[in-house]
Amino acid sequence: MIKTYTLQNTQNPDLFRVVDRKGDWNHYWFKPKNQYLRSVNFVLNVGYAKGDRFIKWVKGKSEEEANKILKETGERGDRIHQFVDKVFYFQGKADRYTTVLAEDNLTEVKLSDDEWDAILAFQEFWKRHNVSLIASEFPIYNLKYSYAGTLDLIVRLNKDCGVKSCGCKDFIGKIGSLDIKTGGGIYSSYGAQLAAYAMGQNFKQLLGTNKIGYTAVLRIGTNHKNTGGYEFEPYNSKETKIHFAEFLAALTICDAEYKPFNPDEEIKEISEIVDIKLNIEDLVAVKKKVAKSKLKIKN
Ligand SMILES: [Zn+2]
Repeated sequence: MIKTYTLQNTQNPDLFRVVDRKGDWNHYWFKPKNQYLRSVNFVLNVGYAKGDRFIKWVKGKSEEEANKILKETGERGDRIHQFVDKVFYFQGKADRYTTVLAEDNLTEVKLSDDEWDAILAFQEFWKRHNVSLIASEFPIYNLKYSYAGTLDLIVRLNKDCGVKSCGCKDFIGKIGSLDIKTGGGIYSSYGAQLAAYAMGQNFKQLLGTNKIGYTAVLRIGTNHKNTGGYEFEPYNSKETKIHFAEFLAALTICDAEYKPFNPDEEIKEISEIVDIKLNIEDLVAVKKKVAKSKLKIKN
């Protein structure tokens, strides 16, 4: 038997992803309170206004076409994120032949050339700022507003890269929560996403008495020549506060249509076996038999 949803571990033993058969999830399960929490991305997908740029982009494309591009963009992002995680897992080392899981969650694939370029840009960012790693793929939750998510990176930048357009200058030495983006631009919902992560209630186990000093988007694989292919956009705590208000607005919109996850109704067992009794009737064979027996009688 397979289930419509299964619980997948996160780094936090209290928190699980509620994953469907395709490997996607909109909810987390918080075990100590048996509480289902919406994922930050789900809230933003439903509740955050898409904005002019997206609407313009969608126009002139068929729904099928738009969905296909969005799906491919998502898969590309997923592969790059997996690769970054592998680099950390292998103590900072990987090469062109290091593989990640393909969309089917079974096949191991090499990165495409442009995905590899994004990884080199990530390396450039890391080197130029002498970054120290505090956590990656860190699961956060907020029980008050009933959401959860997984943030990409908590880091400290130890060196000003000196590139004017970078934006790192005011944030050197502080603890930052970063999200790695691989798409075509920095979208307004990114700030809200980062703020939601930063307002997680479970940082104490990771940071002790330290606090997150800023949030930032790190877009990699861009054509910014002066940085080596990345764009770093930090938001200070004042901006992050405004972004959190945006997230709460999205949460309110999301609530308008939201039906809480109901495990009793939605988690079902699905058989993996087909077993039917096959009664095969061969009508022609019967006829032949009858004809034969008639022949016998004649003789
Ligand atoms: Zn910089």
